[in-house]
Amino acid sequence: MSNSATINLPDASGHFGPYGGMFVPETLMTALQDLEREYHSARKDSEFRKELGGLLADFCGRPTALYFAERLTEKLGGAKIYLKREDLLHTGAHKINNAIGQILLARRMGKTRIIAETGAGQHGVATATAAARFGFECTIYMGAVDMERQALNVARMRFLGAKVVGVTAGQATLKEAINEAMRDWVTNVRNTHYILGSALGSHPYPMIVRDFHRVIGDETRRQILQREERLPDLLVACVGGGSNAIGFFHPFINDESVKMTGVEAGGDGIVRGRHAARFQGGKLGVLQGTKTWLLADADGQIELTHSVSAGLDYAAIGPEHSYYRDSGRIDYDYATDDEALAGFRTLSEIEGIIPALETAHAIAHVIKVAPAMAKDSLLIANLSGRGDKDVSQAAEILLA
Ligand SMILES: *Cc1c(COP(=O)(O)O)cnc(C)c1O
Repeated sequence: MSNSATINLPDASGHFGPYGGMFVPETLMTALQDLEREYHSARKDSEFRKELGGLLADFCGRPTALYFAERLTEKLGGAKIYLKREDLLHTGAHKINNAIGQILLARRMGKTRIIAETGAGQHGVATATAAARFGFECTIYMGAVDMERQALNVARMRFLGAKVVGVTAGQATLKEAINEAMRDWVTNVRNTHYILGSALGSHPYPMIVRDFHRVIGDETRRQILQREERLPDLLVACVGGGSNAIGFFHPFINDESVKMTGVEAGGDGIVRGRHAARFQGGKLGVLQGTKTWLLADADGQIELTHSVSAGLDYAAIGPEHSYYRDSGRIDYDYATDDEALAGFRTLSEIEGIIPALETAHAIAHVIKVAPAMAKDSLLIANLSGRGDKDVSQAAEILLA
């Protein structure tokens, strides 16, 4: 694997090796090409970078802390554990990094209306927040099942002035919400920008979303070098579509000594239809604009998925993750619902930090691997979001 080639992915056609690409209706091709062109021009524009940097600092709360989890480290008795505190960002998760970046692109393109999909509601809240900040009309598509388990976030989006449209088709979760958002975009593409919420979908989204989240890994690298004067041994992040993970990992991709593990949702265990771990029994396919690993049956029909966390409950993984899994650069594992709930409890009780249920999957992995690591080794987990949105759901399961 050539490092410089890797870091320059995707290629000009939007591929990460065999993965990625643009599998979209003809009507969206022009909009996606416009978006890519605008993104490349924005990236080179110092005014754009300055405005984005200012908003990330003063509106969102960057840089986020790199926190030494002293009591968790003591309890597990192995690696020294640090947490990258994306949970401290405005709106409560990493999602705001991307929403703010994309709304600046939308404004550059002269769009006046924003749409987005949301699973756990964090991306919907981040998008509604960005839309309110910039005075855009905003519509959020959300599965009816997710609306029920994430009622708090639905109310937040409405207070922020967004219209929340419930989607009842199919499993009524994230995949169906993306379908509806795509349908809206096809119809209203002239004045509407679609703020996709993960490193997923057609090119150029996986690249743009990754780059807006790279700030997580860039800060982490600076902070750990300052604190420990060396690079970490292991990075751990949960992987839904894969945006918090890829933004956190990417600045370390060329540092061969740094191992990385992405943690998927194991649901009730690896039984068909009862989990969302695409690298456990998944296959190559095309879903919602991109070629990647996904959960489908022998006929190519997308299988049902399940996870206690709405934000990890999706049948496909971002294409760049499929690429790094093949090359062996990133390892992938999974945590079950029960393990994630135990991680949720442990971090709350030991560190005084209630994590999102998505994030709790990364914590569950840390609990598994840290004890066997040397005491002088360094492990950093990305704390992608806070658990306020999950408190009532977790209480029903854990405090009943
Ligand atoms: C949305 C979300 C995730 C999953 O999305 P990725 O794109 O895989 O990062 C993880 N953690 C939190 C807190 C989220 O809100």
